[in-house]
Amino acid sequence: MHRLFSALSAAAAFALLLASVAQADADRPIEAILEPVQLTERVHYFYGSIEARTPLNLGMNNNVGFVVTDAGVVLIDSGPSYQVAAKIAEAVAAVTEQPITHVVNLGSQDHRWLGNGWFQDQGAEIVALQRTAETQERFGETHLNRLIRVLGEEAMAGTDPVTAPAPIDADRHAFEVGGVPFELLFVANAHFPGDSMLHLPTDEVVFTGDVVYTERMLGIHPQSDPVGKLESFRKLEELDPAIVVPGHGAATDLATARRDTGDYLETLIREVRAGLEDWESLDETVERIAELPPFQHLLHYDDWHRVNVNRTYLFLEASQ
Ligand SMILES: [Zn+2]
Repeated sequence: MHRLFSALSAAAAFALLLASVAQADADRPIEAILEPVQLTERVHYFYGSIEARTPLNLGMNNNVGFVVTDAGVVLIDSGPSYQVAAKIAEAVAAVTEQPITHVVNLGSQDHRWLGNGWFQDQGAEIVALQRTAETQERFGETHLNRLIRVLGEEAMAGTDPVTAPAPIDADRHAFEVGGVPFELLFVANAHFPGDSMLHLPTDEVVFTGDVVYTERMLGIHPQSDPVGKLESFRKLEELDPAIVVPGHGAATDLATARRDTGDYLETLIREVRAGLEDWESLDETVERIAELPPFQHLLHYDDWHRVNVNRTYLFLEASQ
């Protein structure tokens, strides 16, 4: 009896362990997300949830980075809200006494920039390309209202769509903070029009924004340009960084970024083009490539892959 009991409790403990592992893999609360991960001596990031936006993650289902220099901290993207921005600042303050002096926006989706207002109130400079700021202005209210629906009014209180007051009218913008060189670069429209990447040549790190997803399936939206996204990925390969910090998914190397994003985009575009050349209907193309074993390890494959084929088909058909 005693032995059976301990066997049962061992089984129960194992089940509990499995449950907690599964939970660690799934959504994480904002407090866990805001534990900084150090990548190089001065480069850190917050590993966002790879699930959807939820009240648990407060909309922080993306990565946010920061670089500590002798003249201040450069934050890469500002999080989904005014309140999360304050929490981000608190988490950065646990690592360094340097103030956040610059906030770079790599994209126009809610979680890349809706925290801007908080940092601007603290005196930080918002750095964004003109193209990025234009898309932010176009979609700001829509993205904000959607987050309010998901997270509630209270979580989003204080959040306004604040864009860079002096956005940069160029496709490349090199700057230096505390002797650390940065290059903000736009290659082509990607996940959204005006998506850019940030290169830190001395640290061999690239923050890719939504150009790269790892661990989870990327999403092609009606506003996405899958061909431009692949072109942006090619530029990333040229930069050949030692560390890639994707927009979504854990920081990794270039080979993993290629496996989870570059190869997928290449396959998607090649196969959809072949379908169009063969006069396949949209449904026929979707059915033909619904199962792509090299990418089925990606989280959310079942939710996104068919949608991606569908939208890529419509995109390529319209651009023929
Ligand atoms: Zn995103």
